[in-house]
Order: sequence, then structure tokens, then C-alpha cells
Amino acid sequence: MRKTLFFLFLSLSLLAANAQDSIKKFTILYTNDLHAHLEPQIIPWISKTRQVGGFANIATLVKQEKAANLHTVYFDAGDFFTGPYISSLTKGEAVIDVMNHLSIDAACIGNHEFDHGWQNVPLQLKKATFPVLNGNIFLKKKKNKLIWNQPYKIITVNGIRIGVIGLHGKFAFYDTIADEMIRGVEARDEEYYLRKYIAALKGKTDLIVLLVHQGVPGRQSSAGGADVARNLQRDIELAQTVPGIDILITGHAHQGTIQPLEANGTLIVSTDALGMELGKLELNYNPATDKITGYRNKLDYLFDDAVPDDSATLSAIRYWKEKVKLITEEKICTIPVSLTRSYGDESTMGNMVADAMLHASPGADLTLTNSGGLRQDIDAGQVTAGQLISAFPFPNTIVEVELKGKQIRTLMEHGAGLTNGILQVSRGVEMQYDESKPIGQRVGLIQLNGKPLDNDRVYKVVTSNFLADGGDGFVEFKKAISVKKTGIEIVQTMIAYLRLSPTYTPQLSGRITRAH
Ligand code: FE
Repeated sequence: MRKTLFFLFLSLSLLAANAQDSIKKFTILYTNDLHAHLEPQIIPWISKTRQVGGFANIATLVKQEKAANLHTVYFDAGDFFTGPYISSLTKGEAVIDVMNHLSIDAACIGNHEFDHGWQNVPLQLKKATFPVLNGNIFLKKKKNKLIWNQPYKIITVNGIRIGVIGLHGKFAFYDTIADEMIRGVEARDEEYYLRKYIAALKGKTDLIVLLVHQGVPGRQSSAGGADVARNLQRDIELAQTVPGIDILITGHAHQGTIQPLEANGTLIVSTDALGMELGKLELNYNPATDKITGYRNKLDYLFDDAVPDDSATLSAIRYWKEKVKLITEEKICTIPVSLTRSYGDESTMGNMVADAMLHASPGADLTLTNSGGLRQDIDAGQVTAGQLISAFPFPNTIVEVELKGKQIRTLMEHGAGLTNGILQVSRGVEMQYDESKPIGQRVGLIQLNGKPLDNDRVYKVVTSNFLADGGDGFVEFKKAISVKKTGIEIVQTMIAYLRLSPTYTPQLSGRITRAH
């Protein structure tokens, strides 16, 4: 009896040991919305003294992780273009070249990759030495031809075959890209194509990883935390609707997941953007049950002083900075205090840009421009052309439209209901709003030069081609009485305006008042 029990015990422990042995471990490193922040930066709400991010630091960390654990892959969920000037001035080429040093195993395409037009996308992506995946953005003229012909890729790690699929949310695509940049392409329903690719990969893979760029556009200043599930709602819905996604890495919301969200058996992860973190998801996979049996996620701020620079990455960054130096180092003016942004209030940066745009359109009544177009503050001191391009990195142009007073109110109401920012206005405009009121009823008094806005009067409004085409959901612009495209680049209006005098003083003047 004793002997039997002993053997029973022995075989049970062996079984347990086998089960343990059969668990396969692997690690996914992830980023999203790197936004061309090649160099480390101060992000005030993380630290006022320690810089975070930087591609040379990311490169070091990825190499260290891969050297320490061979079963490691690195994925990115899109929006690597558009941020500091280096991206705008090279139409993304510099970003791709530096990313080639990051040991990326796959990346998907984000909306900002289209900021220099759809034709520029394959031109630049061709220079990538890492796989780029997208399966639902098609050329309009050639039926069923993808703009970038690689919807998925099978990557084997620790013997586990991972089907990696790249997609772009259709809504996010049309919501956030200037209309004239995407006239030759169309984004098709991501759900349909996701099902199609999962079916195509059936039997060929053990796990499915989806790299997707979709959802609510991120506030630039969003700090992770309370609103995770709300900001990643679209990702949760997608996981709930389409079965079979094991891991979903998302971009666009700029919303880090301290803990992965779980929906319908899918783990959803994301970072807070700009390279401030390199996410690390360690996973246990049981081939016998074909299930992920455990995971651990780490999303720590990447402090520049804690990581040595990867030298190859650093020299690539220096090469590109040197190349555009003549343009970027041009001195424009000095400012005694910083130009700063705000998404929910009047800001000194918003005022400067709106006034510069108005200055470029003599005879116009006011400017309306979106807070989300302003991407970087400028410190007090000398202002260079490079800083202005980084502050407004889009090749957007001035459009003059005629709108009735009530249409201006509709547009301001739309901005007051957005999470990613109100409309910034030019001098002479005063607007009051109350964020505690329901969406659609937030805007109170609107005045122009001391007089209440006349609902039926026609005003000449200066804006960007992005908004004139209904970007960020400002569709009322599309109902304008008249539209005049000037072709003048907005960043050039800023340069011309600031050159008017050697010193420009950033100021708030009570243009927007928010009830608290
Ligand atoms: Fe995005």
C-alpha cells in the first residue's frame, strides 16, 4: 500500500513538473505614439528636472532585454511621425531611419504617418528595415490594393507562432487626418478585416497579437490613471466583438495601462506616448491548453539619466539634426516668458498662433484653431524656427471661410465637448464655457470686440485646412458660406508674425473663461 502511494505521489509530481516545463515564457516590449520624440524631454508632470524618453534610450533597453532573454519581441502601435521639427522637415524620413536602430519586430501605421500626404507613406515606409503592418487602408483607384501590402506577419518566439496583425480604426482615420492628405486612400472597416486575417491565420499560429491605432485621440498632457478604460473603450469593444485576439496593443489615446485591461480573453496594453515608457508584458503560454496562463506588466517611466544611450541610434539622431540645422537654428525673436499650451483654457501659445493666422488674413474677423494642433511649448529666451515647427508640426495651410454667428457657436460648442481640446481664438474674441454642463450646452456668452456674436451676421473666419475639412469632428466648417484656400503654411504665418518685433510677450487676455 505504502509503495503504491509512493508511486502515485511520484507520478503526480512528475505530471506537475511536466506541466510546469511545458509552460513557455516570452516577453513583449511595446510602444505607441512615439511622435518623433527622438530625444529625451522634460515632461513636467513626470519630473521637472529629469528628462524622459529618447530613442537612444529605448534602443538600449530593447537590446538589453533581448540579450537577457532571447524570447523577447518589440512591437509598436503607430504614430511615429509628427512631433519635433525633425519629422516635419524630413516628412518622416529621419524618424524611420532612427527607428531602424530600435530592433522593432513589427509596427502598425498610425494616422500621423499620413501628415505629409498618402503618397508619402509608402515612400518613407520603404526605408524601414523593420516590418510595418496594415491590412485595411486601401488605394482608392486600385480596388483591393492596400497602400502597404503587408497586413500580418507570423513571428516565432520560444517556439510559439504569433500571428501579428496591423490595422487602423476607420473612425480615427477620418477623424484626425486632414482630408486633403488622404484623398487617394480609404480606410475600411477594421472589424471585418480583423476577422478575415484571424481566419487566414487559423491553424498557422498559436497566438494572435493585434497592433491597432484607434479610439479617442489623446490629450497631449494626459497622465495615466483614472480614465484608462474610458479612453480605451474602442479597444475593449473590438476585443468583445471579435473573438480570438490574445493580445491587443493600441495607440492613439495616449493612455498608458499600468495593468492590462482584460476583455473577452484579450489583454489590452498601451503606453502614455512620446516614448515616456517602454512597456514590458511578460507572458506564460501553455501549448497544451493553447492559453495564456499568466502575465506581468511593467510600465515604468524611462528616465534618461538611468539608461545609457545606444551609440548607433545617437549618431543617427545627430546626423539628421545636423542636416536640418540651417533651417531650424534660424533665430526669429525672443520671448521673456514661455509660450505654453492648454487644451481646456486660453493659452499663450494658442493666442500667438491664432493672432499670427489673423495677421496673415487682413480683413478677417477672427481665428478659430484647434488646441490639438499645438504640440510643444517653447521656453523663455531665443525662439528659433525649429521650435516653431516643433510647436506646430503640421504642413497645414490657412483657409478663410465665411460663417454665420450661429455656426461659430456650433463650432465652439463642439470644441467645448471634446476631450482633446477647445478652439483657440484670436484677439477680440471672448468665450465663456462651463465644463460641468452637458455636452452641447456648455458655451455661454460669445463676444467679438466687446459685442455679442450676432447669430445671423456673416463673419470672416481664419482657420486651418484641417478644420475647414471637418477634422476632429468640426463638421460645421464644411457648411461654410464661402471657402478660400490661401495655400499659406500656418507655421510661416507664425514666423512672419513673430518677426514683426525683436521681442514678443506671450500673454493671456481673458479670451476664454471657464466656469469652475
Ligand atoms: Fe494617433
